[in-house]
Amino acid sequence: MKAIVDRQKCTVCGVCTDVCPFGAISLKETCIEISDECTLCGMCVDTCEFGALSLPEVGTGPAADLASYKGVWVFAEWREGVIHKVGHELLSAGRKLADKRSVELAAVLLGYQLDKTTIEELISYGADVVYVVDHPELAHFRDEAYAKAIVELIRQKKPEILLAGATSMGRSFIPRVAASVKTGLTADCTELDISDEGLLLQTRPAFGGNVMATIVCPNRRPQMATVRPKVMKPEKKPGHHGRVENLTLSEECFKSRVEVLEVIPEQDQTAKLTEADIIVSGGRGLRKSENFAIVEELAQLIKGAVGASRGAVEEGWIAPSHQVGQTGRTVAPTLYMAVGIAGAIQHVVGMQGSKVIVAVNKDPQAPIFDVATYGVVADLFEFVPAFVQKIKQERG
Ligand code: FAD
Repeated sequence: MKAIVDRQKCTVCGVCTDVCPFGAISLKETCIEISDECTLCGMCVDTCEFGALSLPEVGTGPAADLASYKGVWVFAEWREGVIHKVGHELLSAGRKLADKRSVELAAVLLGYQLDKTTIEELISYGADVVYVVDHPELAHFRDEAYAKAIVELIRQKKPEILLAGATSMGRSFIPRVAASVKTGLTADCTELDISDEGLLLQTRPAFGGNVMATIVCPNRRPQMATVRPKVMKPEKKPGHHGRVENLTLSEECFKSRVEVLEVIPEQDQTAKLTEADIIVSGGRGLRKSENFAIVEELAQLIKGAVGASRGAVEEGWIAPSHQVGQTGRTVAPTLYMAVGIAGAIQHVVGMQGSKVIVAVNKDPQAPIFDVATYGVVADLFEFVPAFVQKIKQERG
């Protein structure tokens, strides 16, 4: 389905061509032409001063060929030679869905000069097939090219489920894919399951984290969901076998209005936080910016990264990139220390996957103790410096 052109009214002025974010409109001699890239976003309709464009009625009934969509796909995010760990996590989650449906689990890998080890790694996490598109134009991530490539693959192979990481890459281009193939997308799922009828049960926090909503997409395919890194557990499948299919797409798929001039590796704390094995987080209990030094000293001593509650971030004591929680980062380190943090649900959803949680709070009723493995009821200004001192003494 695409926008409708009234040939009598079209003046071929070209304004709609310039505003279309999907490059779906081209100028012909007497009228414009709209391609399948049209997502019915309506930008052209709003801009056309001649009233030559309109949107078709979109029905809410089921798409005609739901049954022709088969298989579970995981987008395996690849950047500069490395697969993002979320790809492995999603393959493990996808494996369970595929087994319940008795269908194939596929990893979709886009990139350039992709090596055998990378591909085999995806199979070792449970992929039955790896669809590989290796092209110079996919060497660096660009929304348009990646979205067009995945859309083309969906049209060719018709998967019933597509999962991707809620990383900066996934958040950036996956909504564009969903819009292009006119299906639904549930972002930031924390749980995935499948009904007997094949409906993907996509659970995520809603209403500020106060309820967990399970969302389904009954009328469109593929059913699409993103999941934040570290929410699902990666599980290797020793001895699992899979095949590799190298696919070729039309050159049109790789066209993009964006040119990558240089790639500068990310330096900011965010990356460190999500990868860190130990995190020491500070909250509003620290009272002022300078007191974050207490948390930083402890973190440095035990080789951890520094996290924060939104309370501390909103006070301006620390940069938002350190925030853990629903609107911050989801983390799952081996050790998470929450210092002067109350334990609001919006914070807890971002750190409850940690292996060991140590909470320091002077209020014995603080909700953080409900999720803590070890609780220290104490004034942080007494406990943390004494703890630091003790570690230093022990180390001599
Ligand atoms: P407070 O609630 O003020 O708690 C401070 C704690 O420190 C208290 O428990 C207190 O007993 C303790 N304390 C005080 N002094 C001391 C001391 N001397 N020694 C020991 N303990 C002490 N929050 C997040 O963290 N991350 C999110 O991503 C997030 N997203 C949100 C999204 C939405 C839509 C909404 C509505 C809220 C969100 N919040 C988030 C905010 C969340 O609801 C809380 O307001 C916030 O987590 C509170 O931060 P805090 O625990 O540091 O502060």
